[in-house]
Amino acid sequence: MTPFASPHRLRLDGNALVANWRLLDAMSGPAACGAAVKADGYGLGATAVAERLAAAGCRDFFVATWAEAAALAPLTLPVAVLHGVRAEDMAAALAGFARPVLNTAAQIARWRDSGGGWCDVMIDTGMNRLGVSVEQVCAGLLDGLTIDTLMSHLACADSDEAMNRRQRDALAGLAGRTNARRLSLANSAGIGLGGDYAFDLTRPGLALYGGVPRAELAGIAQVVTPQAQVLQRRRVAAGDTVGYNATWRAVRDTDVAIVNLGYADGYFRGFSDRGTARVGGSALPVLGRVSMDLIALDVGAAPGLGEGDWVAFDFALPAAAALSGMSQYELLTGLGARYDRIWA
Ligand SMILES: *Cc1c(COP(=O)(O)O)cnc(C)c1O
Repeated sequence: MTPFASPHRLRLDGNALVANWRLLDAMSGPAACGAAVKADGYGLGATAVAERLAAAGCRDFFVATWAEAAALAPLTLPVAVLHGVRAEDMAAALAGFARPVLNTAAQIARWRDSGGGWCDVMIDTGMNRLGVSVEQVCAGLLDGLTIDTLMSHLACADSDEAMNRRQRDALAGLAGRTNARRLSLANSAGIGLGGDYAFDLTRPGLALYGGVPRAELAGIAQVVTPQAQVLQRRRVAAGDTVGYNATWRAVRDTDVAIVNLGYADGYFRGFSDRGTARVGGSALPVLGRVSMDLIALDVGAAPGLGEGDWVAFDFALPAAAALSGMSQYELLTGLGARYDRIWA
């Protein structure tokens, strides 16, 4: 956090975060429930997220890179690095604060040759993103590795595609083919597909943070609320315009507040003329274009609102994604570095 109080902050609901993990854990049945905390905990702050989930009982954390794993090292939690080991990662990987998820034959050879210990392995079951093939596994590529978790990743778990079942069956077919302790497939949406998809360990990210990728996850609670301070309040006369390209024109005299938030903070331009903020019970519609650092709000419903007062933006992720045209993932990971992050 900077030494200056920021003019915008994220209100982060730690109870909702933990309740979401507990719900996903319960929906995972007998499988363990981990947490994807890559991209700085989807923008919330990976350390703060991991501390809270570890206290609730979570024992498996997933990041993308070794820099992200190093940032979590002081917490001494079990962390797996999804992108595996490049040559330049080996010093970090052998330091022992996280284990790699090996994705390619070259990564497997590098890890085996280094005498590395526990690892995970990613199997490509049809997404054609990361991982080795089922055929490579059956040909013995993993022989001699000490594998904690053999995992795969679902390409379309947020919709009902035949591909989900095909990917699930491909991973299930590897049971007993390696010495892996565990199998793992489901991300947040995959948990919603049901117990067949949970295997031994689930790996939710999005839903921990309030994302709802499938109707089965409707019980997920909002975690993040952006708030911003009013910088200036003005009366805009009928016929005058507000903001870049003068896209909003007042049809009557309108009370407008300019607040300290913009697309550089992840409040994207898709919210132009569509988003709303709130103070007390009153809705304050966004007027005109969202700027890089500023937004105009119609504050006619809040006569007492003035310079220095705070407003809260409506940011329930399914609705905010539909409104802005961004994905729920982009809305979370776009939250910038300028916010003070305040956990309650
Ligand atoms: C990001 C990621 C997850 C978490 O996915 P969500 O859709 O955010 O729940 C799980 N597994 C892998 C391999 C990932 O890359």
